[in-house]
Amino acid sequence: MAFEVTIVGSSGAVPVYGRHPSCQFINVQNRHLLIDCGEAAQIQLARFQLPIHKINQIFISHLHGDHYLGLMGLLFTMHLQRRTADLQIFSPKGLDEIILQQLKYSRSSLNFHIDYHSFPPERTMQLFEDEAITVTTIPLKHKLPTSGFLIAEKPKPLRLNKLLLEPTMKLQYIAQLKQGKDVYDGDNLLYRSADYTLPPHPSRRYAYCSDTAFNEGMAEQIRGVDLLYHEATFMDEEQEKAVETQHSTARQAGQLALKAQVKKLIVGHFSARYKELDNLLNEARSVFPQTDLATEGTTFDLDAI
Ligand SMILES: [Zn+2]
Ligand SMILES: [Zn+2]
Repeated sequence: MAFEVTIVGSSGAVPVYGRHPSCQFINVQNRHLLIDCGEAAQIQLARFQLPIHKINQIFISHLHGDHYLGLMGLLFTMHLQRRTADLQIFSPKGLDEIILQQLKYSRSSLNFHIDYHSFPPERTMQLFEDEAITVTTIPLKHKLPTSGFLIAEKPKPLRLNKLLLEPTMKLQYIAQLKQGKDVYDGDNLLYRSADYTLPPHPSRRYAYCSDTAFNEGMAEQIRGVDLLYHEATFMDEEQEKAVETQHSTARQAGQLALKAQVKKLIVGHFSARYKELDNLLNEARSVFPQTDLATEGTTFDLDAI
């Protein structure tokens, strides 16, 4: 089952050089989530042929415009596409008021219901859970209350070793073995689960961390994740600017990836001062070689890491 992260927008603050503000589309086991929704998100989603109608949860990290100004346009498009399914929107406090004001003054009501969930970004909190995944907040350090998101697959079932299954085995026994239960006939052990099953596929995790000042404190929560997106608004020579605006440098993103021992790092939220991003990428790679740029239109497959 897929676990893929597609970069929809990668720019910090303003759209420049063909780059757009923050937005990512996640497909995890056929659940389609949107993280942040910067200006032009819906245009970019259409450009990359990502299915808007399949999005059922939207997670907004904070209320700086470059992370949510694309939301109203997207909601109206969903409405015009005759969406009827409920939509859940998770964000720090205030986003529901912003949306409702815009609907009020445009005398509009949407075809579908929005469930607003506001959360306190200063502490870790599970926002979403279903049978396959959880989404948990990652408290970040920024000028506004801001949270990253950790998307984690739940433990998966054992896999049947089909080569060893016997044709005479009853289906109910096979189901039991898959659940890790041994099969008895009275006191007689018929089949041992461990003999007929293989370990589950590993559960994968993705951490999204934008916007934030360098914060080693978060390393524990994201330790060992398959993929980390960390903002790298600046390069190290602009460290003062990074401190002042509570953003990170490419080197710091690399340092955090190293400390948290993640498998792969992607950096994004690039400042408008960098037209070319090679030097920024090299700076992060000098600390953490397994780094890529969050290039728009790129899909990162967690199985390919
Ligand atoms: Zn931002
Ligand atoms: Zn911000």
